[in-house]
Amino acid sequence: MTKWVYTFGDGAAEGRAGDRDLLGGKGANLAEMCRLGLPVPPGFTITTEACNAYYSAARSYPEALAGQVGEALTHLEQLTGRRLGDPSRLLLVSVRSGARASMPGMMDTVLNLGLNDATVEALATESGDARFAYDSYRRFIQMYSDVVLGVDHEVFEEILEDEKANRGAELDTELTAEDWKAIIGLYKAKVEEESGAPFPQDPEQQLWGAIGAVFSSWMNARAITYRRLHDIPEDWGTAVNVQAMVFGNMGETSATGVAFTRNPSTGERALYGEFLVNAQGEDVVAGIRTPQNITEVARIDAGSDKPSLEKIMPEAFASFVAISQKLEKHYRDMQDLEFTIERGKLWMLQARSGKRTAKAALRIAVDMASEGLISQEEAVARIDPGSLDQLLHPTIDPKAKRDVIAVGLPASPGAATGEIAFSSHEAEDMRAIGKRVILVRIETSPEDIHGMHAAEGILTTRGGMTSHAAVVARGMGKPCVSGAGTLRVDYRAGTLTVMGRTFRKGDVITVDGGTGQVLNGAVPMQQPELSGDFASVMKWADGIRRMKVRTNAETPADARTARSFGAEGIGLCRTEHMFFEGERIIAMREMILSDTEAGRRAALAKLLPMQRSDFVELFEIMAGLPVTIRLLDPPLHEFLPKSDEEIDEVATVMNLSPSALRRRTEALHEFNPMLGHRGCRLAVSYPEIAEMQARAIFEAAVEAGRATGRPVVPEVMVPLVGLKKELDFIKARIDAVAADVMKEKGETIGYLTGTMIELPRAAVRAHVIAETAEFFSFGTNDLTQTTFGISRDDASVFLETYRQKGIIEQDPFVTLDKEGVGEFVRMAAQKGRATRPDIKLGICGEHGGDPASIHFCEDVGLDYVSCSPFRVPIARLAAAQAAIRKAG
Ligand code: ADP
Ligand code: MG
Ligand code: MG
Repeated sequence: MTKWVYTFGDGAAEGRAGDRDLLGGKGANLAEMCRLGLPVPPGFTITTEACNAYYSAARSYPEALAGQVGEALTHLEQLTGRRLGDPSRLLLVSVRSGARASMPGMMDTVLNLGLNDATVEALATESGDARFAYDSYRRFIQMYSDVVLGVDHEVFEEILEDEKANRGAELDTELTAEDWKAIIGLYKAKVEEESGAPFPQDPEQQLWGAIGAVFSSWMNARAITYRRLHDIPEDWGTAVNVQAMVFGNMGETSATGVAFTRNPSTGERALYGEFLVNAQGEDVVAGIRTPQNITEVARIDAGSDKPSLEKIMPEAFASFVAISQKLEKHYRDMQDLEFTIERGKLWMLQARSGKRTAKAALRIAVDMASEGLISQEEAVARIDPGSLDQLLHPTIDPKAKRDVIAVGLPASPGAATGEIAFSSHEAEDMRAIGKRVILVRIETSPEDIHGMHAAEGILTTRGGMTSHAAVVARGMGKPCVSGAGTLRVDYRAGTLTVMGRTFRKGDVITVDGGTGQVLNGAVPMQQPELSGDFASVMKWADGIRRMKVRTNAETPADARTARSFGAEGIGLCRTEHMFFEGERIIAMREMILSDTEAGRRAALAKLLPMQRSDFVELFEIMAGLPVTIRLLDPPLHEFLPKSDEEIDEVATVMNLSPSALRRRTEALHEFNPMLGHRGCRLAVSYPEIAEMQARAIFEAAVEAGRATGRPVVPEVMVPLVGLKKELDFIKARIDAVAADVMKEKGETIGYLTGTMIELPRAAVRAHVIAETAEFFSFGTNDLTQTTFGISRDDASVFLETYRQKGIIEQDPFVTLDKEGVGEFVRMAAQKGRATRPDIKLGICGEHGGDPASIHFCEDVGLDYVSCSPFRVPIARLAAAQAAIRKAG
């Protein structure tokens, strides 16, 4: 027979911490605390399996449940010497929900269950405190009616407010037993009116009502939404905990509180928490009265004149300190604890591992490792890599005054202050004269990349967390607030308005990408702390991981940032970005628009020295570390002049009429550029472009190698290869240039030629391509586009719909689609290695900085991941965690 109910109490329990799946987090830890001999009110837990059985049977209880609950209740009555509904030896219980993962959105707890018109009198007599008894009863009516009978709690609050006003009372505590009695009468009348039945008096009926409500709450709208947002499967189910009541509201020697064993925002090793005297349940978090500090130190720190628990209940405090230390040692993690003191006696009501900020997580992990509580490996495994993002950027000083003008979405972390610019042009111009700029747009598009580069931070009034502005800003590591919908941007008037306040170009604002706030003026900042705990965890992670971590970078600034974050080379240098600046774009346009090879070569000759100097700088910064340079990839029309002005400019240089030039640009138009004349196809049509780039790379390698004393081994990467012969054709040109340069310089250059794997055909034919390619770099952005047949730039509209309708769980452009795209990666890796056992394998798509995707890369055995500079620490940590998981 299935066991649906597990008891706990009096130093024993049928369950334990490891039974979380079955008993829920709360139930498992209540059992564990009992086993540790801690003072926990006895009770029992109905399993998550019972909840699942309830739903499989069209919302009816498993047959044996009633009997098992009955037995567990008898057991509880024996342990406490009390009985539900028995006025002479009254037992009251709480009914608490508890899933595997803590889940706000489910049923709220019902306290004081078992009270009715008769037992309330018994409680008054037994406690000698009528006020306490009626206060408990009215709380019970209110909670039970709200969560079980569906009577909105506000109707009770209204009654209470009216009654307080009638009596001239400000606080609940001013009400007498008689007042509460009268209020209870009104409450019951209201319940009957709203629910159509009198408030249930039978304790057994109350109990089953509450159990049913917990099960039902698993499928309420809030819970369903929460599960969807947090990827919690529906078949986890929730457990129900029924537990004897203890009373924190029995007068001045009673109290209730919550505490963390370490400070959850700084990680400091000190008990941190709050309590209220003469209070019950969630009064502490509800904010009805201001809670008091638990320790004297914290009280003094907070400058509070309300006495601490340490001071007013020293004995209960001492036991609590001892218990909290015991629990932390036992669970080997920072604990979040709930307790109640009933007439001086301490009771533990909940333990779970505490939520914490990224900063606290680091400090706690490092401290615990040095205290010998956990190993370095465990410390590394415990940090959420994604959370590091919060730490890598300047942030607003927590003590700073904030004049918040609007709140949008926290799209990219960090904070930045600057003068408003309304266009990318303005941003660049202001930047050029040394100003710090915040780019303010309704939304951004690819044309704004320059402006975003020039800006310190970005603010948009439209768009979500995956809007262009958000995605690009995160990639650049720039703070961004998106979708600040209360702000009005008027480009023509050059104004930003909100609630009667107007800001103009040049006015100073601050964006806080961590909270989504937009603030007036400059605000004091804190610089990121990359030493200390952060550095320790990173060092440990580096000692554990197998995969290398490189960066995607083409500007010296990005390359330097990435180095300071620990990048071990460049995995992707996109050369096209180098052709947009100043003089270069004109020479580039000249090259594209010439219709002879000689014309193109003449223009390329102008580009060569510029390109070479770019590479020299990157090679020098990377000082001997590997650098992968990708040959020109995008379709040529991206570089073409668009405005009349631009066309005139190029026409003059080329000695052509503007109209002739315009005809040529029109001829380059493509219907579907993503699948058009781009990637290696360009190099096949115009080998001289690849030759120029190869020459720039090799000459720069020689020069930088001489300057730094560390030989550069460039990796020349050919994009968008689908056919081995494409690569053969281009590699022959690269090799010829390399031979020339070596001869000219009298020096041998070590280099590798390889390809991106970003087309399904390349993955399928990887064993053949590897005959030529010395490395593969998985370009998973394009590989995702080409595998799904979805254009990333157009996907956001329907992918969000897909998510909402449950067709996909994650955006495949954020987290690698293991089953589809990943299968191509796995296959190509295997095939590549079969042909060339020492082939170098890496990933350079956005996925290279996504922890879940990094785990996949470890499974497939890639040699390195490459990601944007600000994700390098995240990738270092995630790679270590992937190695730990694979080993364990
Ligand atoms: P949540 O998951 O929202 O924290 P809980 O089930 O922990 O809900 O309970 C809500 C509040 O009621 C907490 O403050 C808890 O300590 C208190 N509480 C729960 N059960 C009891 C009990 N048996 N005696 C006294 N207080 C209780
Ligand atoms: Mg709650
Ligand atoms: Mg709780």
